[in-house]
Amino acid sequence: MSKALIRSMNRRGSRSEKSPPVARKKAFRDPSVCDRCGAVYTDKTWRRGRQLAQSLMDKAAWVKCPGCSQAEAGQYHGRVLIERGGANSGAVSARIANVERRAQIQQPERRIVSSKWLGDTLEVLTTSQKLAHRIAREIEKAFKGTARFSWSDREGTLLARVRCALR
Ligand SMILES: [Zn+2]
Repeated sequence: MSKALIRSMNRRGSRSEKSPPVARKKAFRDPSVCDRCGAVYTDKTWRRGRQLAQSLMDKAAWVKCPGCSQAEAGQYHGRVLIERGGANSGAVSARIANVERRAQIQQPERRIVSSKWLGDTLEVLTTSQKLAHRIAREIEKAFKGTARFSWSDREGTLLARVRCALR
């Protein structure tokens, strides 16, 4: 991969990490709790699995977090196309679910919008470019694949194509 490509990826990755488009537009009260996924907003960040004291819970605002809003609206910034080759489709799906779970502990707004098999190709749409990138790298590693990345500036989307070689 070229240096310019890596730079552009890092820049975009960190931008989407810090302030996803939805989060930038909306101000949340501190503390807020997501009605859907239970993520907690405090100190300007959303986190999963955070324990709120009962007293804070009583005064928390119940809202829909940016991740849930984006996923519900079908908005995505990452698209991963995985040609499974000889890889087992169940194993590929399980691996992706695992990456998503780990990503959400730190950043609940990073999530999978949809994931569906189109023949032997799995299309995964994600709310963040960074999650799409991580999924592509993980699949590449686990199933001896090759990943290629391209960006659409106009749509602000990362497209990752992974071809699995494992048989
Ligand atoms: Zn949520």
